[in-house]
Amino acid sequence: MGLGWATAPFGKDLEGDGPRVAAPERLARYLRMTDIHSASGQDRIEAIVGLFEEARAQVEQNRWRAAATALTKLLSIDPQVPEALGVLAYVRYEQRRYEDVIDCCERCVAVAPDNGDAHFLLARSLYKTGRLHEAFEYLRRHFGHMQHSTDAQQFAYAMHVHNETLKGYGIDPAGDRESLATALYRKGLDLFRAGDTEQATVAFDAYAEYRVPLEALDVEVGSALEVEEEHKPTGAYLSCDELEHCIHFHDERLRFCCTYHNGGKGWTKAVDFHGGALPIDAVAARRVDTIRKLNSGVETDCSGCHKLAKREWARDDKRLNRIIINSYSVCNFRCSYCNLTKANFEMPGYYYSTERAFDDLVAKDWLREGAIIVWGGGDPCVSREFAAATRNFTAHGCITNTNTNASIGIPALRDALSAGLAVVLISVDSGSKAAFYRVKLAKPGANEDVLFKSQEAFSAVWRNIADYVAADPDNVRVKYIFLPENSTRAEVRQFIDNCVEAKVRQVMFTPEGQFMRRFPLHAEDLPADMLDAMKFAATYATQQGLSVAYYNYFPAEIFRPDTAAADATPGPVSDVDESTIVY
Ligand code: SF4
Ligand code: SF4
Repeated sequence: MGLGWATAPFGKDLEGDGPRVAAPERLARYLRMTDIHSASGQDRIEAIVGLFEEARAQVEQNRWRAAATALTKLLSIDPQVPEALGVLAYVRYEQRRYEDVIDCCERCVAVAPDNGDAHFLLARSLYKTGRLHEAFEYLRRHFGHMQHSTDAQQFAYAMHVHNETLKGYGIDPAGDRESLATALYRKGLDLFRAGDTEQATVAFDAYAEYRVPLEALDVEVGSALEVEEEHKPTGAYLSCDELEHCIHFHDERLRFCCTYHNGGKGWTKAVDFHGGALPIDAVAARRVDTIRKLNSGVETDCSGCHKLAKREWARDDKRLNRIIINSYSVCNFRCSYCNLTKANFEMPGYYYSTERAFDDLVAKDWLREGAIIVWGGGDPCVSREFAAATRNFTAHGCITNTNTNASIGIPALRDALSAGLAVVLISVDSGSKAAFYRVKLAKPGANEDVLFKSQEAFSAVWRNIADYVAADPDNVRVKYIFLPENSTRAEVRQFIDNCVEAKVRQVMFTPEGQFMRRFPLHAEDLPADMLDAMKFAATYATQQGLSVAYYNYFPAEIFRPDTAAADATPGPVSDVDESTIVY
């Protein structure tokens, strides 16, 4: 049985501050007190305590993989140390590996049955996997051990609301997952048909909590779409293109857009989603409900958005005309400026299958021919679904707009370019191979080459760029994000020379994200060497016959070509201050 402090990380809000981890000396004392370790001697205790200490240090830096490695090693010495099981469960929760959390917690409560924190984490993870009944049981056990957990009280309230929703709809909460999810989706359809869009969204949200693939349920998906226009306001009303015609596949949910506004509003949710068939009725119900609320003065995530306009929205073609795909955070690069890299690629990775949903969009004609398909990521070229989806959308006449690092050439994308149905934006952010490795692979010094599918990364990127440009030179744009580590004229000059060699016609320049958040941007907001390199880039690219684009929202005068700058000697390549590089 564990001590009271045994799994202290559970005491924190799981989405809040860093964890508290039991002190190793207390762990050692506990181990000495137990029979399990007394026979094996001091060496074994020291090994366990050492690994626990290492795991604690890694947890404090949010290095989940390293922490998990130390804890797994510890548990191979003794699989029943509740402290290690508890902390490993916490680490797995941070990694969103909920099945592993459940396994760790079950093992933890088997040896430490009074551990209220483990019961709570078990309840949370069961909930995250759609097993609401079991979640409720462990929550009840948690309260048997820890009466005053605020997190648990909030969680219990949410579960209570869910149960009351079921009862309010006349659905017996004792049913199994499939029957409850089916009943809730059907209820959502009925409410939507009846025009009660607010309650329809409640029912669809409750359905989504069970995480049962829609295709496994006995429901008629899309059967309520015919009422959508009927329940919208008539005449001119407040709405936007995204709200009317867009779906954004994002982390664990569908949204209407990827627009932020008014300090944290926007990215308006449609419904939670984890892959499988597309819950198009849930999306439509939320769309109509949001529009109705907006037009009756009720506050929503869209209220105050600069994209809203009051006009008569065309009703002749109700199909979607824009799909944004950010359903994964997987990438084979480590760009120095990327949030994923800055978080040591320890941000919880996510990836759910969009194959069935994309097939639905095309096969059921919910998507217009000529619709825009925007791929973000992670990087699309490492997505398992990208090639097939691109072929599918291209055959439907859609225009694929892909943001990629171009490390892996995708024939389907080249074919879409050849057909005039694709736009590709490739961020290279460097001229020399050395800078490319520093910026794109966050790799200091002249280390060995990085290979992707047996191809050296730098040459592979430029080869793929040339291949895409050969397919359609007018719709491939190569980008340079200006950072402290690449803002030299020499680096920029080499980048432009590389573009010319690959027969690129269009380049794009932008300062790094931290500057893009300053709006409006002024020249004095940029470091002097960055401003100088950007002006040089504009001038030299223009001289080389390239068409130059800049990120929207920036005053053109900041980047106006500077002939004097272009005449200046570029200096040696890669003359950067290594101390300014973020690894
Ligand atoms: S109004 Fe703004 S926040 Fe709402 S869907 Fe449109 S773009 Fe997104
Ligand atoms: S290619 Fe994109 S997703 Fe991948 S590390 Fe670079 S910025 Fe991040």
